[in-house]
Amino acid sequence: MQLRVTVLPGDGIGPEVTREAVSILRAVADHGGHEFTFTELLIGGVAISETGGPLPQTTIDGGLASDAVLLGAVGDNRFNHLSPEKRPEAGLLQIRQLLGGFANLRPSVAYAALAASSPLRADVTEGVDILFVRELLGGLYFGIPRAWNKETGEAFNTMRYTREEVQRVARVAFEVAGKRRGKVTSVDKANVLETSQLWRATVTEVAAEYPGVTLEHQFVDSMAMHLMNTPRNFDVVLTENLFGDILSDEAGVITGSLGMLPSATIGGAVNLYEPVHGSAPDIAGSGKANPLGAILTAAMVLRYSAGLEQEAVAVESAVRRVLQDGHRTADISRDQTAVLTSTEAMGRLVHEALSQDLGRKGSMHAV
Ligand code: NAD
Repeated sequence: MQLRVTVLPGDGIGPEVTREAVSILRAVADHGGHEFTFTELLIGGVAISETGGPLPQTTIDGGLASDAVLLGAVGDNRFNHLSPEKRPEAGLLQIRQLLGGFANLRPSVAYAALAASSPLRADVTEGVDILFVRELLGGLYFGIPRAWNKETGEAFNTMRYTREEVQRVARVAFEVAGKRRGKVTSVDKANVLETSQLWRATVTEVAAEYPGVTLEHQFVDSMAMHLMNTPRNFDVVLTENLFGDILSDEAGVITGSLGMLPSATIGGAVNLYEPVHGSAPDIAGSGKANPLGAILTAAMVLRYSAGLEQEAVAVESAVRRVLQDGHRTADISRDQTAVLTSTEAMGRLVHEALSQDLGRKGSMHAV
């Protein structure tokens, strides 16, 4: 099969982890005789430095003309003085909007081998497999009016949702739950916010279309607590934009690190794939970045854009095996017996495990 991938490495650790993700995709393509092409373009701080803006037109055109966009991370402290619409992060919000994906899928899986890396007890995290479905194009991040009036000392944002926006993302959640363990937990703050009352009413309506799937509602504040106390109780967690941003980062604690979390944004013109973490300026350039979130993101490219489910599972299994063998980047190395490894070495280890799995050990190292 053919797949045109636009690669946006971005800032900080973005290029470091994206390199490893692309290497894995190349390996799968080589093995299966698929034609994957990769076009690297600019976004974020690196785009501001080179072109004056966080999202050049060439990136927009390239992204829209491709089958999938794979992004690393954006964010660069050197541009913190700029107004929000000129900062690196504005490029990310814009590309998400332009590609049109409204459902952000964020798996949060507890790997048995990483039980010691999570600050939570192993008996709490054991067997956790949650899929967050986060609405990505509405809510506070995009609602207008929005402003910060420095003269009056007042600032405000607008949380706005339409029934259609809630319906379409709810349907994605119920569809995927039907293929998993059949449970959707919808998160809101319906005891306070009108947008959440609309959210709850609409999700309840949509649930009637999926009699095989159980629906429960949780308030976002108690959900934050349940997620840490009883994470095994959750299958698909459906949230609006801001709540999902916060809760899925919190779920990084279950997995062991933010660096382990992948994501895919579907439903628009072109799917957008990105690890959940940011540009991590505190470790950029040190070789400490965990590439597994980006590599698991590559697995999602295979699953949702290439339709290569077996290969996606093979990548996920390779990650699992490398972890079982005790290899760790610094962020997941609480276990004293772990073998500490760099970003590049971790990528290579997954590559090798994948080669073995696909039955072509050795021949894929040329990629
Ligand atoms: P962050 O995710 O970059 O980092 C949070 C912490 O997690 C840091 O201690 C970092 O070292 C660690 N971490 C993150 N990813 C890691 C990985 N792969 N391996 C090992 N450790 C990892 O969040 P932040 O510090 O709040 O933000 C830094 C910059 O990134 C900011 O400019 C922010 O706006 C931006 N940001 C971008 C995205 C994105 O591109 N999707 C998401 C969040 C934050």
